[in-house]
Amino acid sequence: MKFKELNIIEPILRVLEEKGYIEPTPIQEKTIPLLLENNDIIGIAQTGTGKTAAFAIPILQKLHQKLRKVGAPRALILAPTRELAAQISESFKVYGKYLNLKNLAIYGGVGITPQIRALRSGVDILIATPGRLIDLMNQKKVNLEKVEFLVFDEADRMLDMGFMKDVKKIASSLPEEKQSLFFSATMSNQIAELTRNFLRNPKRVEITPQATPVDKIEQCVFFVDQKRKNELLLDLIKQEKLDCVLVFVGMKHKAQWNFCRCNPWKQIAISENKSIK
Ligand code: AMP
Repeated sequence: MKFKELNIIEPILRVLEEKGYIEPTPIQEKTIPLLLENNDIIGIAQTGTGKTAAFAIPILQKLHQKLRKVGAPRALILAPTRELAAQISESFKVYGKYLNLKNLAIYGGVGITPQIRALRSGVDILIATPGRLIDLMNQKKVNLEKVEFLVFDEADRMLDMGFMKDVKKIASSLPEEKQSLFFSATMSNQIAELTRNFLRNPKRVEITPQATPVDKIEQCVFFVDQKRKNELLLDLIKQEKLDCVLVFVGMKHKAQWNFCRCNPWKQIAISENKSIK
C-alpha cells in the first residue's frame, strides 16, 4: 500500500515524498481512510507507530478542503505533556507545510501571556495540555465553539496524570457536532467510560505493539565475587569486542572508577549533583 492510494491531497503527498515516507504504517493505513470517511475512532496504539501522522494528515486535509477562517480553533488536540504537545505541533507544521493552516501548542510551565496573544492572532489547530487549556477557558481567552475535530492523544497517560476531570470538562464544553478521535496505548475501564461518553459509534483500530527495545536486548546474569566484578566487566568488554558500553553502577564513587587506565577506551562518568554542562 502506498500513500497515493489513501486519497491524500497533493500538498500533503508532496511533504511525505520529501520526507521519504513511501508506505503508510499500519495505524495510518487503517485510520486515514476511516477518518476521511468522517468516523470517530478509538486507536489502540503506542508512540512510535506513526499515530501522529495518522490523525494529523486527515485533519489537515479536511480543514483544508473546507477552508474557512473562523478566528478560533477548528481542531483541538489534547496531550498529556508539554513535550508531546510541542512534538504534535511540529508534526502539524511539517505535514501542513504547503497548506494555509496555523497551529499553536499551549502548555503550562511557561508564561501564559504570549499564548493568549498567539490565540488572539487566529489559530486553526490548537494543541493543548488539559491544565493550561482549563486556565485559558476560565480566563475566557480561548473560544472552543468552532471545534470540528477533537483528539485525545495518549489518553491513558492523561488519566494517569490526574487529568480525568479536566478532560471531561473540556470535552463537555465543545460543540456536539464534531469528529472525535481517541488514542491510547491501553484500554482500561476509565478509558472505556470516556469513549462511551464522548465518541459516536467509534471504529476501533488496534495495532499490536512491535517488540519493545527491552524485548530485543539479550540479557544474562553472572554470579561473581564482589571484588572481581570490575575484572569480569573488562573481560566481557574485550571478549565481545564491544565499542560502546553503558554501565550502570549503584554508587557515585563507582562511576568514577577509572577502568580505562590500562585500556585504549574513552570513559565518561555521569552521576547526580554534578553540573551536566
Ligand atoms: P509517532 O508514533 O507519531 O510518534 O511517529 C514515530 C516516528 O515515525 C516519527 O518520527 C515519524 O516522523 C515517523 N513516521 C511516521 N509515519 C511514517 C511513515 N509512514 N514512514 C516512515 N516514518 C514515519
